[in-house]
Amino acid sequence: MSARAGIVVTGTEVLTGRVQDRNGPYLADRLLELGVELAHVTICGDRPSDIAAQLRFLADEGVDLIVTSGGLGPTADDVTVATVAQFCERDLVLDAALEATIADILKRLMSRAQPAGAVDFDAVMAANRKQAMVPVGAEILTPVGTAPGVVVAGKPTIVVLPGPPRELQPMWDQAVRTEGVQRAIAGRTEYRQSTIRMFGLPESALAETLREGETGITDFDRLEITTCLRRGELEIVTRYEPAAAPVYDDLVALLRAHHRQEIFSEDGSLVDDQVARLLAGRTIATAESCTAGMVAARLTDRAGSSAYVAGGVVSYSNEAKVELLGVDPKLLAEYGAVSEPVAEAMAAGALRRFGADTAVATTGIAGPGGATPDKPVGTVCFSVQLAGGPTLTRTLLLPGNRSDVRERSTTVAMHLLRRILSPPDTE
Ligand code: ATP
Ligand code: MG
Repeated sequence: MSARAGIVVTGTEVLTGRVQDRNGPYLADRLLELGVELAHVTICGDRPSDIAAQLRFLADEGVDLIVTSGGLGPTADDVTVATVAQFCERDLVLDAALEATIADILKRLMSRAQPAGAVDFDAVMAANRKQAMVPVGAEILTPVGTAPGVVVAGKPTIVVLPGPPRELQPMWDQAVRTEGVQRAIAGRTEYRQSTIRMFGLPESALAETLREGETGITDFDRLEITTCLRRGELEIVTRYEPAAAPVYDDLVALLRAHHRQEIFSEDGSLVDDQVARLLAGRTIATAESCTAGMVAARLTDRAGSSAYVAGGVVSYSNEAKVELLGVDPKLLAEYGAVSEPVAEAMAAGALRRFGADTAVATTGIAGPGGATPDKPVGTVCFSVQLAGGPTLTRTLLLPGNRSDVRERSTTVAMHLLRRILSPPDTE
């Protein structure tokens, strides 16, 4: 038994890339969690014929469930419900109760409009009557904004959801509970999904280890392994049926045997989460040049009320490094701004300046401007320091353009922090 699904993302703005699709990935995650196999995500514009073609394609592929996003608004270019009704050969009928619900929502919205009475309620209601037209026999999903969604049960069952992610996401939870969807996904298989993260390992080395697993581990093919390189980290996501858990344990043992140094997460946690935990009860300050404040931004992302981030300095010019961070001008003259002694002096300066007990500094060459033959683009020096404790300083040559170098540098800084803050026995 299995259940397969397809997703149709509609909207010319998404098709052209003006708006980046967030609904396909969101729904894909939810379907995978449910144990529904996702066959395709397709993207098309707002034209009814294009939407119908995607529905036809997925139905011909034999999926049990199609989820669409977008095109539920009141305007003429919002045609998804009508297109789905036609595809399922159902008439559109006015749902009076739904019309009343939408009227209530609109009244509430319009009572906030300024100046009061500037909008003609009847005109708005007429335009929105369209949203109360549903395919005969469809289950209705209560609006999160003004647009209701619908579930049309059948082979395949079609779920029609609005485009704005903040509306689509809560409505998906409603959709899953409907009879139509439950019946369509009855054949789903329970899967487990586990994630391991590594840092500092090339993908080719991992591929080699996985080949070894293929020959050395019994029932290896019961694991569905996806590896992906992101921000310099390797992410290994494995899906398997609960009965194959021992096979997964064998895989983990194999990875540990070969890459103990590089594995930093076996429970899927991100380096950001780990650093946040390690920083509990501490205060950190940052001194950045090539990362332009991105290390501070990443640290505050997890800090919530920025509990442990005291502050940071972004210093490009030598003068700023001297004045704001107390870097000795002689170091700058002797070693240059992109050097390990300067990185260390910047970190020490951040500790002092903010009265922090932890500091991280980056200084590097992210763009072609400052590059020299012995310090090409991508040369970045890092220093992390604990007050009165150890210092960890590194120089790396990172690949890519300015934004790649910045992003990678930020990740490296997080990993150096993780390393210096981790108790020695966990390393
Ligand atoms: P509305 O009533 O707002 O028109 P709708 O259901 O008709 O809702 P669309 O017109 O398709 O939805 O999209 C409205 C807006 O929602 C888009 O302009 C876009 O900003 C956002 N949006 C739509 N689809 C997506 C998507 N796949 N990913 C991210 N944002 C999206
Ligand atoms: Mg719209």
